[in-house]
Amino acid sequence: MLHILYHIFLISKSDLSLAPIKMICTMPSMKNPAHNIYIHVPFCMSKCNYCAFFSRACANPDWGTYAQKICDEIDTWYQKLGKITVPTIFFGGGTPSLMPANIFETIISKIYTLFDVAPDAEITVEANPKTISAEKLRDFVQIGANRLSIGVQSLDDETLTFLGRQHSARDAIELINAAQKMNIRTSADFIYGTPMDTVYSVVQLCTQINELGIRHCSMYELTIEPTTPFGKKNLQMPDNGAMAEMYDAIGKTLNLPRYEVSNYATHGNECKHNLNIWDGAPYIGLGQGAAGRVYMDNQWYEQMGNNERFEKISNNVRAIENVIMGMRTMRGCQLTDDVKNVIDIDWVQNNHELVKIIDDRIAPTDKGLMILDNILTNVVK
Ligand code: SF4
Repeated sequence: MLHILYHIFLISKSDLSLAPIKMICTMPSMKNPAHNIYIHVPFCMSKCNYCAFFSRACANPDWGTYAQKICDEIDTWYQKLGKITVPTIFFGGGTPSLMPANIFETIISKIYTLFDVAPDAEITVEANPKTISAEKLRDFVQIGANRLSIGVQSLDDETLTFLGRQHSARDAIELINAAQKMNIRTSADFIYGTPMDTVYSVVQLCTQINELGIRHCSMYELTIEPTTPFGKKNLQMPDNGAMAEMYDAIGKTLNLPRYEVSNYATHGNECKHNLNIWDGAPYIGLGQGAAGRVYMDNQWYEQMGNNERFEKISNNVRAIENVIMGMRTMRGCQLTDDVKNVIDIDWVQNNHELVKIIDDRIAPTDKGLMILDNILTNVVK
C-alpha cells in the first residue's frame, strides 16, 4: 500500500553513519520514550499492475508462522526498550485485511501484554475491499481496530481493471458504508494521473468522494516503477503540467483540507500514526523490510525488520530526515536546535513565497508544496 512511501527516506546510505550496533538483550536502565508501531503484512491476493511495494501474491499464507515471527520481534523490542508507551499501531502492507481475525488478535494481545498501549491509541488496519466482509470487520473492531484505511484507488470499474485491482467500485463503497455504520474512523486511498485521467475526471472523482462523506482520504499520483507490469508497457502518461492541474483541482474540489502532500482530512481525523512519524517521533517497524527510527538511551537508530538493519544515526542525519518528512505536512517541521543547524536560513528568508516560518515551525506555502523536492534541496544545507 502507498503509505509505505513514508517509511523510505530520501537520504543516501552514505549519509547514514557508523557501523552496525550489537543487539542489546538486557532490560534498559532508563524509561525509553513512547514509540509508534508499524506492522508489515506482506501478502496480497494478487499483485496490482503499478505496485512496487514489498508484498507477494499469496492468498493463503502460513499465518501461524507469520504471527509467531511478529510476536518474537515484539519480545525482542521489549528486551531492548522495556515497557514503552505505544500511542499508535498501524497494520500496513501488503494487505493486512487478508489476516484472519485470530491472527490480528494474537499480535494485538502480545503488544498489549508487553507494552503500555495508550488508552486513546489509534489502531489502523489497511484493507482491500475484496478481502474483508462486514462480519470480519466487526471482529477486527471488537479486537481493537479503530481506524480502517481502505485501498479504493478508483470509483470507476474500468480504471480498477486497468490498475489490476480485484474489487469493483461497488465492493469499495459497501466497505466504506459498513465501516461508517460501525462508527470507526474511515479513510480511503485513491490514485489519479492514469493515462485516461483529465482534470474533468479527477474533479468528478473528488465530487463522488465528497458524497461518500468520508473524513479522510489519500490522493496518490500514479508513478510508474520499472519493475512493475506498468513499467514494462509504454504507457502514455499525462505530462507534468497536466498532473499539476489535476493536483490543484483535487485541492479545490475535495471538501477535506489538505494536511500533507497527498492526505486530506477534517480537523481531528488526520492519521495520528503518520502525523507522529512526519513530526519525528520514534517508531518501530515489525515484519520483514519494515523500517523504523528507534530512540533508545538518548541515541537514534535506523532500524529495519528484525535485525536486518540496526545502525546508529547522528542527530544531524535525524534532523535532515525531520525536515524532509515535516515539510511534507502543512504544519511543517519544528525548528529545534538540531533542525536549525541543517537548514539554510538565508535561503528560507529570501524565499518566503515558497517557505514560511510561523512561530517555531518551518512549513511550505501552497506554492512551495507544488515543487517540494526542489525546495528541499535548497532548504537543507
Ligand atoms: S494491494 Fe496491490 S498495491 Fe497494495 S500492496 Fe498489494 S499489490 Fe501492492
